[in-house]
Amino acid sequence: MKVIGLLGGMSWESSIEYYRIVNERVRERLGGLHSAHCVMYSVDFAEIEELQVTGRWDVAAARLDEATTALKRAGADFLVLCTNTMHKVADQLTGLPLLHIGDATAATVRQAGIQRIGLLGTAFTMEQDFYTGRLAGHGLEVLTPDADDRAEVHRVIYEELVVGVVREESRQAYRDVIARLVDRGAEGVILGCTEIELLVGAEDSPVPVFPTTRLHAELAADHAMGLAEMPGTSQGFTGRGRDKSHVTSVM
Ligand code: GLU
Repeated sequence: MKVIGLLGGMSWESSIEYYRIVNERVRERLGGLHSAHCVMYSVDFAEIEELQVTGRWDVAAARLDEATTALKRAGADFLVLCTNTMHKVADQLTGLPLLHIGDATAATVRQAGIQRIGLLGTAFTMEQDFYTGRLAGHGLEVLTPDADDRAEVHRVIYEELVVGVVREESRQAYRDVIARLVDRGAEGVILGCTEIELLVGAEDSPVPVFPTTRLHAELAADHAMGLAEMPGTSQGFTGRGRDKSHVTSVM
């Protein structure tokens, strides 16, 4: 079995889900006493969040690259970055092969026969090309919520979910945002922040939801067991410099 390198702490509320899911997946597939062979490096999220809000992404990238090197030294064979947002610096994490969360998710969306997909996540994830462009590279048309809804989705993540607060009012607010995306034509919705699935699930949506923590962690376990390849992007995709014509949002 390959050793999974989990780079977590962003936040730990979702990292513990990764740890649980990779182990459950291995037990489900191999049975008996089998469990996932993995190492985790968990950062102090306050440090990373400050770098995000002050736009010091290169410093954050250097910090995560050091963590990647530490995971490699600890025996990891590949990297699972346990956050959607920090995939903004994915290209700068060079020490280990990266199992990209956007690729893992997009592959499942495509398998479900869905092309027009809603996206919930942090403002960084919903508004910047590093994520929406990655999904578009798989042939998906991405719908993001309008500005007010994006602000509320982002607020709930940073003020509630990453500190372990799950509120019924916020669940209802997310249901309403999902319903508005569906009204605009979304055939499915990506829960594109690793804490969102702690708040909403399939029962909160009239269309299929794609929980990124679960999809990413299950694929990581399958890859470690030799049951799945790293998912690739469509031919010719570079992840950089794409135009934004694939993203539809109401400003
Ligand atoms: N876990 C979240 C994500 O998947 C947000 C925390 C972060 O900024 O990394 O995007």
